[in-house]
This record gives sequence, structure tokens and C-alpha cells, in this order.
Amino acid sequence: MSNSTKPPSGLGFSTLAIHSHQAPDSQFGAVIPPIYQTTTFAQTDAGVLTGGYDYARCGNPTRAALEGALADLEGTALPGHIAGLAFASGVGALSTLCMALLKPGDHLLVGDDVYGGTYRFLTKVFQHYGVEVSFIAMSDAASVEPHLKPNTKMMFLETPSNPLLKLVDLASVIGLAQTKGITTCVDNTFASPYLQNPFVHGADIILHSTTKYIGGHSDVIGGALIVNNDADLAERLRFHQKTVGATPDPFASWLTLRGLKTLGVRMDRHCHNALTLAQWLEQHPLVEHVVYPGLPSHPQHPLAKRQMPKGFGGMMGLQVKGGEAEARTLMKTTKLFTLAESLGGVESLIEHPATMTHASLEKPVREAIGIHDNLVRISVGIEDVADLQADLEQALQAACRSMATV
Ligand SMILES: *Cc1c(COP(=O)(O)O)cnc(C)c1O
Repeated sequence: MSNSTKPPSGLGFSTLAIHSHQAPDSQFGAVIPPIYQTTTFAQTDAGVLTGGYDYARCGNPTRAALEGALADLEGTALPGHIAGLAFASGVGALSTLCMALLKPGDHLLVGDDVYGGTYRFLTKVFQHYGVEVSFIAMSDAASVEPHLKPNTKMMFLETPSNPLLKLVDLASVIGLAQTKGITTCVDNTFASPYLQNPFVHGADIILHSTTKYIGGHSDVIGGALIVNNDADLAERLRFHQKTVGATPDPFASWLTLRGLKTLGVRMDRHCHNALTLAQWLEQHPLVEHVVYPGLPSHPQHPLAKRQMPKGFGGMMGLQVKGGEAEARTLMKTTKLFTLAESLGGVESLIEHPATMTHASLEKPVREAIGIHDNLVRISVGIEDVADLQADLEQALQAACRSMATV
């Protein structure tokens, strides 16, 4: 498997994750792609490159291995090293995407419950660039169509969303965009390429915060853009990648690639643990409501089954009986679930959207979209599920006792 060609077709997901663009190093046979911790590369004559690289912001072999593997996992139709672009963070990928593809006077359609950092970039930074942005409910084509304008250039979709795990019907919304010649970008961070494949539905670009499930070990920040089938679009993004400069260093690229190798087995366990806990919590007398796409009680469960056939991910929302005080007691009392922002790592995390990740929304706005004060968000890790269940049980009991004493 040479580093610049497509791997043989028909390989399974985990085989690709482990081998794609990761052939043993040609010089010493290193089985794992080396960390090429260098800023520059020797040239044999002015402008004649030894191995295709000149300056490490523009490209380096460690980053190229990650880019190619990610692109192959998302099922690009292009060679992986052309279609995949790695960034220093998810928002680095987003800001580069917007700078590359939008100009003053263009209109961008975005889901109204996208990641908070996406919202912040578009409303606090990109608003100065003369691009019109509309945040809309984006469940399917019928909800999007009334918001189209003649100058609509791009749609940015995120599914499942955060923290309420609402879904966008990708086939329906992307189908509408295609009839109007509108570019689509799907933020596939929550599902990961293992559970959801936006290119199957015709998406033009996929965005990842590799910080989450792809890296998977809460030890490296990173982002990616992957292009479906348009080589000119990929080249335009690659020009902006090196020119805007939000690129990952070789060590970050290497850590992310190491995490990526086990994505399939980790996602299977995340899904199993989350579904087990969701089914148990839904019956629990101290729980008011559970939000998880894998439960028949989720309003878009049939869509979730179609769009994420291998599993429903590791994220869930949980409303405890009571209010903010009970939610706080629950989060303070868990011993295995760490109270922290972020998600997608091997360890379980718990957080309070109303005062942490989504505190920038005013209370009436939060309540209107369903982020109540008794809602906690859980990133279910890959520990033994019986231990996670016991930990939540003792914390729910503590929350209940705190309720009884007020
Ligand atoms: C975390 C996250 C981002 C931003 O990624 P960073 O790596 O933190 O910059 C974007 N989208 C989603 C869905 C996220 O969860």
C-alpha cells in the first residue's frame, strides 16, 4: 500500500483505519509512521524536493498519513492524500472552510443547534466578513427550503446535535442542496466515520473535530476537512490550509492517527455502553427524561436507525427529577464520570449544558430549545458498563437525598 495511492477496495473499516496510508516506513521499516519533527526538508537542487515536501506547514509525512487515512475512512472518491486535510483544531478547520468558500454577499445556512464554538465563530468573528448567516431548524428538506435565498452558497449541517441529539435527515437536506447547486458541509464529529457516512448521501465536505472520538483519548486537539469527489475543491481548500496556517504539528498528527486505529472497536463499546445505560435510566424512578437516538422514545428514532445503522453513539442527555440543585449534586457525586467539558474519549464525562457548554445562551433561549436546568450531558466512555451504572445509581440516590432535605 503506497502512501499516495488508494488502498485496495473492499477493505473493512478497521483494516483501513490501521493500514491506510500507514505502510511501513521506506527507510527503516518502522511499522508506525514516524513523527517527522522537522520544519523543513532538504532540496537536491533549488526547487527540487527530495520526497515531495518543502516546509512543514504546507505538508509533512506524519500529517499526510493522517489525512489519507481519514479521507479513506470517510469513503472519498478521490485519492486520500488529495481529499483529506488536517487542522490544528475543529474550529481551525471551520474558519479555514469559511474563508475558502464564502465571500461578501454570500448566504450561509446553519443548523440552530450547532456546536457552540461554531456559533461563536460565525456570530462574533465571521459576521465582520460580509457573509449573511441564518441559523435555522434543519430536520429535513421541508424545514430548510423556506430559508433558501438566491445567494445561498453553503449549508452547514451537524448531526446528531449537541446537547439535545437532534438529527438532520442528510439524504433529504443534501438532496435539496444539490438541486440548487449549494455546497454542503456536514460536521460528523458526534457520529464519527464509523457510525455515519455523509458522502453516501452526497455531501461535498465533511468536517471533524478529531479532538473527540477520532483522537479518542482526550490528549490531542485537532480538526479535519474531507472532500467527497471534487479535486478542484480539495485543491482550493489545501491552498487555504497552508495559507491560513491552522495546521497540526507532526506530534499532534501522530497522536490523532494512533487514536484513529482503534476507532471501530471503541465506537462499538461506546454504543453498547450508552444504549445499556439509556435503557436503564429511562426506567429509573429518579430520572425525568432521557435523550438518546437509540431509544424508541427519541422523536427521530426511525431516522437514527436508517442514518446510523451501526449504532447511536456515546452521547446522551439526562434530566434528573428536580432542578439545577439535583443536577449539580449528581455531577459532583459521580466518581467514574468526571465533571468536565468535551466528549468522545475513553473515559466517561458528565457536564451541565446550562452553566457550562451552553451558558452563552440566555435562559429563555435555552429553555425554548430544551436545555433545562436539570439536564446533564453524558459522554459515555468505554469502561465496564456495570461500573458506570453503579456509579450513576449512587449519584442519583445522593441527588434524591439532597432534594428531600430542602
Ligand atoms: C468540539 C467540536 C468542534 C470544535 O472542535 P475543536 O477541536 O474543539 O476546535 C466542532 N464541532 C463539534 C460537533 C464539536 O463537538
